[in-house]
Amino acid sequence: METVEGVVVVGGGSVGLLTAFKLGKAGIRVLVLEAGSGVAPAQHAVAFTPPALAALDRFGLLDDVRKRAVLCPDLAYRHADGREIARLQWDALARDTHYPYLLLLGQRNLSALIRERLRGMPNVEIRWNQRVEDIEQNADYVTLHTASPGGKTRLRSPWVVGADGARSTVREKLGVKFSGRQWPERMVALDVFYDFALHGFSRANFIHDPADWAYVVQLDKSGLWRVCFEEDPSLTDEQVRQRLPERLKRLLPGAPTPDQYRVDDIEAYRVQQRCVSEFRRGRVVLAGDAAHTSNPMGGLGLSGAVLEAEQLADALIAVVDDDTAVSALDQFAARRRNTFLEFTSANASAYFTAMKESGPIQRSRDLAMLEKAGNDRSLMRRILLDFDKLNGQRSRSITAWGRRVTGSSKWLAQRTVRATSRSALALVSVVRQRLAGARAV
Ligand SMILES: Cc1cc2nc3c(=O)[nH]c(=O)nc-3n(C[C@H](O)[C@H](O)[C@H](O)COP(=O)(O)OP(=O)(O)OC[C@H]3O[C@@H](n4cnc5c(N)ncnc54)[C@H](O)[C@@H]3O)c2cc1C
Repeated sequence: METVEGVVVVGGGSVGLLTAFKLGKAGIRVLVLEAGSGVAPAQHAVAFTPPALAALDRFGLLDDVRKRAVLCPDLAYRHADGREIARLQWDALARDTHYPYLLLLGQRNLSALIRERLRGMPNVEIRWNQRVEDIEQNADYVTLHTASPGGKTRLRSPWVVGADGARSTVREKLGVKFSGRQWPERMVALDVFYDFALHGFSRANFIHDPADWAYVVQLDKSGLWRVCFEEDPSLTDEQVRQRLPERLKRLLPGAPTPDQYRVDDIEAYRVQQRCVSEFRRGRVVLAGDAAHTSNPMGGLGLSGAVLEAEQLADALIAVVDDDTAVSALDQFAARRRNTFLEFTSANASAYFTAMKESGPIQRSRDLAMLEKAGNDRSLMRRILLDFDKLNGQRSRSITAWGRRVTGSSKWLAQRTVRATSRSALALVSVVRQRLAGARAV
């Protein structure tokens, strides 16, 4: 049986490739096993927030990303008819970060550029068409059973990363619990060539509306944009396609007819809000969607992935160097689980709930909050600084961002409180106080 003395990464998505890249730079032997035949063709997540840009800089990837990405100076919040509610400007962080902007780049481009950089690293190998089907471990090694067009093989390594996505085989074979819930909404991720800028859209827009909520974001420099919206769960994929002209006439500014845009890709999917009970079991560590999944609102997914991969690679570098330093992996596990539950999941869910709020009182409160943020640079700064929490460290501000702990977000609040420590309770209480203050204004 082949032995990889280093790390095997299962899954060549963004998290797997970033982790492999950093381990490779540290001189560690890395083998990536990827079930697909190449870089996944989907764009999926898009947004790199300032803490993720700082991490990409530390990776040595920021210049490559910058060349392909769209620079986005603000976030716009709109009504369904296109009227602007508020605009938050990233340069409110000019004193706080070297990266006071968003970069927008679809995931497939990120994966492709990392793959290019990995070609220059002889210690990192990617094997495509290798599906991991089973794992077992003893005190010294993890054995992986893989299937490929050439047949079934086994190999072993002292450390394995399960970065094999939301339907992770590694997680399933470890028997780790993956609890949470599925959102009832059916999302449609539509990639379309259309000139939103002509209609005054920012490069990142959130449409607040009970029926026609959406986010609209530019995907790359080619003029491709993502529109993510809700569709009736009872429709087939074909029916979703058939309804597109009618839906896009309502959702896109300028009420265009089909000859005025070009659909590049469409994917309908259901989102889960879930997290594993343990990130590490023995010599196997889970990361990315294999460890947690969230709805895509708020632009937290890809940024969280970059930071998670960086922190995982740092912990693995310590442990590969010294097999007894497993506490580094446990610190990584605790930090990322708390970050997901307390920040990513809580914010993405509260924000999603706010976007499609139908109660008139709560909705007008939310809109007033947004308007206030758009007009008050100091509040704007504090809200945008909150993205620092993706790092898993205390932010320099606590945001009163909507109603994180009220009303329909109660489920999340309960989960957060159950799953986390006293510090989460403290956070909840500070947010409540701030909300009270913000609403009083
Ligand atoms: C349609 C859609 C739209 C999305 N839009 C957004 C968005 O706008 N914003 C956002 O933040 N997030 C979004 N997401 C979620 C985002 O794509 C994920 O959070 C992100 O891809 C996670 O990266 P990952 O590397 O952990 O997993 P993945 O990108 O899923 O990569 C996992 C890799 O593992 C491979 N693999 C799976 N099983 C095996 C196996 N047994 N053996 C070997 N390899 C295996 C897969 O082929 C894949 O390449 C979207 C997801 C979908 C499906």
